[in-house]
Amino acid sequence: MSETSYKKLLKKIPEEVTAFLNTAWAGLYFSVNDNPEKIVVYSKEKLRDIPNNKNLSEISRQAIVSNRIFKYSYKKQTIISFPLSKEDEQFHASISLPINAETEYLNDLEYIHYILKGIMGKLSDTFKNYELKKDGLTGLFMQCYFKEEVSELIERSEQFSTMMIDIDFFKKVNDSFGHLFGDFILKSISNVIKENLREIDYCSRYGGEEFAIILPSLDEIDAYFIAERIRKRIQKQTFSSGNNSVKITVSIGISSYPKDSEDPVELIDKADKALYNSKEKGRNKTTVISKVKI
Ligand code: GH3
Ligand code: MG
Ligand code: MG
Repeated sequence: MSETSYKKLLKKIPEEVTAFLNTAWAGLYFSVNDNPEKIVVYSKEKLRDIPNNKNLSEISRQAIVSNRIFKYSYKKQTIISFPLSKEDEQFHASISLPINAETEYLNDLEYIHYILKGIMGKLSDTFKNYELKKDGLTGLFMQCYFKEEVSELIERSEQFSTMMIDIDFFKKVNDSFGHLFGDFILKSISNVIKENLREIDYCSRYGGEEFAIILPSLDEIDAYFIAERIRKRIQKQTFSSGNNSVKITVSIGISSYPKDSEDPVELIDKADKALYNSKEKGRNKTTVISKVKI
């Protein structure tokens, strides 16, 4: 399943619950093991009275921990959260929605709870399989699935580019500020990367402080443009947490299919070579492998 169809599936659940129960909005909360928790909200109109993700996450967790339908008053509305799993399970989920005069039939909460549990039961394997491929710290896919994804695109003969990003002098950050701050930097950098990618792009954490990305349908020129945008955004930012503040730069390498190779291992290796070329040239640079003179 691609990232896009997975996101569509996630969105469909609160959307269908909203249509089925005629509520103004519905929010799905779920988390799998150590992977970052997810909240997907669907609303019929732009409403101001939807709790933010932090509140929804709190309400949902309380429902899951108590393992009962949880009621909560929020800005003149009553929100109910239906736990869809128990606390000790690997997969946690809950659906939250508001009750008002038009949703009187929500009286039969036990019955609705039963139906919602049925929906989630069918989907929990899909979620588990997908979320377990992700790294706990950054929420990005783990390294081992990157090559699989590259091979799949090559099999389909679809043009794409791969991009490797490595943080410059990251060891110094850990040595000067400690590993916790280092982890904060890793999370922040992965957020900057995600913010600058499209929904269809595939981003994984490739080893410690390296990121590997697939950019479907883009050639090396388009990929270079995106890489430079990411590199400059990171260079511009000051990363601060607690009393610590630091400037960070990254080095980037790019290879493209089918131009640079039609073999997944060689293609990834070429992006890596381009990355090392950026390091050799002084770091904080993007290199496209086809432009490197060997
Ligand atoms: P270069 O510019 O050549 O890439 O230098 P560098 O210091 O970034 O490269 P090096 O490979 O020497 O160091 C990478 C460091 O990344 C070493 C390791 O301590 C750190 N690291 C790897 N994974 C994690 C992690 O999950 N958390 C933290 N805090 N540090 C990590
Ligand atoms: Mg590094
Ligand atoms: Mg490295």
